[in-house]
Amino acid sequence: IPAKTLKRKDEIGQISASAVKVRQNLRDMVERDPLTSLYNRRGCRSLIDRLSENGIGYTVVMGDIDFFKKINDTYGHAAGDYILKEISALLRGCTKDNNGFASRWGGEEFLLILPRTELKKAQDIISALLDRIRASEFVSDGTQIPVTMTFGIAENGGKEDFEAAVSRADELLYKGKTSGRNRIVSEDTVAV
Ligand code: GH3
Ligand code: MG
Ligand code: MG
Repeated sequence: IPAKTLKRKDEIGQISASAVKVRQNLRDMVERDPLTSLYNRRGCRSLIDRLSENGIGYTVVMGDIDFFKKINDTYGHAAGDYILKEISALLRGCTKDNNGFASRWGGEEFLLILPRTELKKAQDIISALLDRIRASEFVSDGTQIPVTMTFGIAENGGKEDFEAAVSRADELLYKGKTSGRNRIVSEDTVAV
């Protein structure tokens, strides 16, 4: 819709403005997760496609909340949902600050994309994020809930498939889980 039409003060202007809103709402419904408002897999993929089309490299970060089943079992499902929302806000803040984006990849699993960010820089960014998560106080119904996360980090030079980097990040995340959780495992180091 042309900007000139949107600026019109008459009915045509109003109809155009609501068409824009409807389009945005539909896009959000398709590309975002309703609980956390983060991108869902589809939204993440369409952003990745844009990076790939432009030959932009990026680092892939797979993060998963530690012992989340236990959080649900101990504090209840509503408290679990609250943790998902709070963690999502921290992830969104971190990726926004670094021109990237965050998506909810599965239940308590998140995929972060950091464009034009090499491995070492990504490690520093995620290390600061994990410190923030560790230092955050999550309080539900007056009870403080301790939360930690584990992250796997893999770099995509812009030439390989997105899926290849995701599966490497996933393997590194798994390594982090089996070696004690609450840590970052990246392609060349382990940071506790
Ligand atoms: P690990 O440290 O190995 O990741 O253990 P975990 O308990 O976090 O992992 P597991 O895969 O065993 O459990 C994930 C749990 O996340 C189980 C599922 O019920 C819960 N979950 C998934 N989606 C949601 C959700 O939308 N809300 C809530 N409250 N819980 C969810
Ligand atoms: Mg988990
Ligand atoms: Mg999981």
